[in-house]
Amino acid sequence: MATFKDFRNNVKPNWCPGCGDFSIQAAIQRAAANVGVIPEELAVVSGIGCSGRISGYINSYGLHGIHGRSLPIAQGVKMANRELTVIASGGDGDGFAIGMGHTIHAIRRNIDVTYIVMDNQIYGLTKGQTSPRSEMGFKTKSTPAGSIESSLSVMEMALTAGGSFVAQSFSSDLKELTSLIEQGINHKGFSLINVFSPCVTFNKVNTYDWFKENLTSLSTIEDYDPHNRMQAMNTLMEHDGLVTGLIYQNKEKPSYESLVTGFKDEALSSQDISLNQEQFDKL
Ligand code: SF4
Ligand code: MG
Repeated sequence: MATFKDFRNNVKPNWCPGCGDFSIQAAIQRAAANVGVIPEELAVVSGIGCSGRISGYINSYGLHGIHGRSLPIAQGVKMANRELTVIASGGDGDGFAIGMGHTIHAIRRNIDVTYIVMDNQIYGLTKGQTSPRSEMGFKTKSTPAGSIESSLSVMEMALTAGGSFVAQSFSSDLKELTSLIEQGINHKGFSLINVFSPCVTFNKVNTYDWFKENLTSLSTIEDYDPHNRMQAMNTLMEHDGLVTGLIYQNKEKPSYESLVTGFKDEALSSQDISLNQEQFDKL
């Protein structure tokens, strides 16, 4: 059985000291060990951005893709080899701007991939421009007078798109984050885990202290039921999206690959979907 150390390699991250991304890397390594996979059973696929480097820092199969395209690649990897545990990751610019078309369709498609967004509410690699997660009024090099666009409510969007596992965490809370990634990997479907990951170099507003002051843990909300989609939506709206924990899970929604016929006999029998063998043989 592997430990988190087995998921380390000898590549030294070149993130800025204090960047939230370090903790996310550690959480992925811990979660992978805790769910019982070994490095040869894990694939980490990333996009472009400071966050995109993560696939090179974990001892597993890894692919540093192109901007906004971690999800098409990750879904292809999973469909080609369903025995792999597949993690896709990238930043808020990567996933919620150029990659948004892929994100929303991956959510509704429900392929068994865990998508970890390292959300720093800014473009860090290109030295600090407004991202779709930046708040209105946020001043950057690209918006010197303050952003005139509102921030995207990604958790509400994921619920609306039919997300079967929607969670949010804070990079400082390694325990919760590790647990959510474990739950996401064990979930048989698409898991979206948005992680607030402070950019200490370029985002001087959404700092560690800001998140500590503004985030509400769902564990402190009495009777919160992560299987109640309406309550999840209401809670997000009441807290302006600034909650952490497992927001919503629907274990009943079948994964995409369990409905694709012709790959495995058990997939056919368990889903009661008839296969047109003649058609499939021609593929
Ligand atoms: Fe992290 Fe920001 Fe530095 Fe990029 S620029 S490594 S996001 S602190
Ligand atoms: Mg970003």
